[in-house]
Amino acid sequence: MDRDFDGKTAIVTGAASGIGAAIARELAERGALVIVSDLSQEQSDAVCAQIAGKGGRAHAFVADVSDASAMERLVAFAVEKGGALQLAVNNAGIGGASDKTGDYPLDGWRKIIDVNLNGVFYGMRHQIPAMLEAGGGAIVNMASILGSVGFMNASAYVAAKHGVLGLTKTAAMEYSAQGIRVNSVGPAFIDTPLLTANLDDETLGQLAGLHPIGRIGKPEEVSALTCFLLSDRASFITGSYHLVDGGYTAQ
Ligand code: NAP
Repeated sequence: MDRDFDGKTAIVTGAASGIGAAIARELAERGALVIVSDLSQEQSDAVCAQIAGKGGRAHAFVADVSDASAMERLVAFAVEKGGALQLAVNNAGIGGASDKTGDYPLDGWRKIIDVNLNGVFYGMRHQIPAMLEAGGGAIVNMASILGSVGFMNASAYVAAKHGVLGLTKTAAMEYSAQGIRVNSVGPAFIDTPLLTANLDDETLGQLAGLHPIGRIGKPEEVSALTCFLLSDRASFITGSYHLVDGGYTAQ
């Protein structure tokens, strides 16, 4: 792999599992110093150990993305360790409650909006000033196919992910002249604990059938797109939403 992120510092939230862990590993393999941030110290340390085992550089930092002050401390930690912050992936997210809109639990709604939408804002709120100091940077916000289409029994998740697209477009417009690019990524169903933890094989098979490509995706397939968008090869791409969905939304 090219070491095109040599000399850069990257924050990845929700990096102890699934898609975030795959992104953290690829960024490190391509030369970045990666701040692996998640709720669990042990699992974040485990991802850092995998990265170190392959010759990469990473530090763990426990932070809840729904806590704005924790996001401020995370950015300060990244700048302290790397000297500057150039890359960020606001990836942490939860699935949350499943119910029709008329029955949706209020606490479940607030929790999902707090993590999946407010968490992205709090992240960018502190990453952007640090990237301005660094002279520019690139941010990817993890949305979903459900950033552009609805899904039954998931009103909070769908609303949060649609919100992530709006936040992404606005921040991109505000900071493109100062060298910061901001994009969002829309995965379809991906083989991670968020999806597979509570589903049996039959349900997973049904979900696979929703994708014209005939299977669910792999975290590494989301990482490949995310890391492309973070790289200088995507220098004319900002404010946009990029699907990695096996054809799900083409139907
Ligand atoms: P995952 O394997 O569950 O990983 C998400 C990580 O984020 C977990 O380690 C989780 O910790 C952590 N996290 C949860 N709440 C957090 C918080 N408040 N602050 C910091 N970290 C937190 O899920 P994934 O599938 O990789 O999901 C990553 C992102 O992709 C999410 O934004 C998700 O919405 C999006 N996405 C996933 C799919 C899919 O099918 N998998 C599809 C489209 C989009 P805990 O395990 O302790 O909760």
